[in-house]
Amino acid sequence: MSAESIPLSATEKSRISASVDYDQAGKQFGYLSIPHSRDDSAWGCLRMPIVVIKSGEGPTVMFAGGNHGDEYEGPIAVMNLARNLDPKTLQGRVILIPALNFPAVCSGTRTSPIDGGNMNRSFPGASRGSITNMIAHYVYSQILPLCDVVVDIHSGGKTLNFVPAAIMHELEDQSRMEATLDALLAFGAPVGLVLRELDADGMMDTAVESMGKIFISTELGGGGSVTAETLRVADIGVRNVLRHFGLLDEPVVRREDYDLEPTRLMHTPDADCFIISDDEGIYEVVADLGTEVEMGQVIGRVHNHQDPSREPVEYRSHRSGLLLCRHYPGHIKRGDCAAVIAEDYHRS
Ligand code: CA
Repeated sequence: MSAESIPLSATEKSRISASVDYDQAGKQFGYLSIPHSRDDSAWGCLRMPIVVIKSGEGPTVMFAGGNHGDEYEGPIAVMNLARNLDPKTLQGRVILIPALNFPAVCSGTRTSPIDGGNMNRSFPGASRGSITNMIAHYVYSQILPLCDVVVDIHSGGKTLNFVPAAIMHELEDQSRMEATLDALLAFGAPVGLVLRELDADGMMDTAVESMGKIFISTELGGGGSVTAETLRVADIGVRNVLRHFGLLDEPVVRREDYDLEPTRLMHTPDADCFIISDDEGIYEVVADLGTEVEMGQVIGRVHNHQDPSREPVEYRSHRSGLLLCRHYPGHIKRGDCAAVIAEDYHRS
């Protein structure tokens, strides 16, 4: 990365300090100390958990959960890995942040209750900004430069639900595109999705990709909770990333080993894949999550609960494919994402 492409904010000194030493061998459970002077704690700070596990020589992989505070597979899988990963079996360094937007995870909300900050719209952050911006700035300037691979574990939160998917973006650099596709398949989710973002500005994804590093995200479920199935995908997926990049000397656990269908590579090539509601009302699901739909098929209806005499408004799929994501819960507003339809992706 050239000097002129580094945002000014990255060179500012962080106000956050770490209790862990990123170069120390072994396993360290520590915290990032985030200054937070407030009415109930004049000289107070937030202590945001971070775990560093290092042994031998190898790549550095960061796993983050809780980028959004109402998505739970990430925090659980990252904490499981933090407790269970034995440094004696590791070749490399693993940096674990189970609750990236720590205040949001504490309150079970997508965004921070302190400043309203959406962590995944806050990169590269600002050292003298809000709490959310300070965390983004610390991660951007102090942690991402250490990493070879970054895995950011999302789910749909309270307002979306997904067929469990590992996700990457279409990349211009072909060798990095191929390497990321390999890592995506190694993760071992039911779907491997090459995603077109509706709005990629400020995302950690964009920050990591602009540094030329391997980045994988996920959408592992949602609806504001977890299932045994989505947690199994998360727990196997994070270890598979370590196996794939050689930090663990053991073979990737393949879906076929469990008699499951191999990962289905899919993509969302344009905005037509996203079905956005123009109406407010009660959302009737016509095509369930994970079903195959045809172009033009009715996938949902919005009922006007103010006026039972009105026919519900029908929403149709603009293409044939898999109903990858649906709106949650039952009430929908104008502008909400009602569903996402993904198509099969053919690797060149
Ligand atoms: Ca999310």
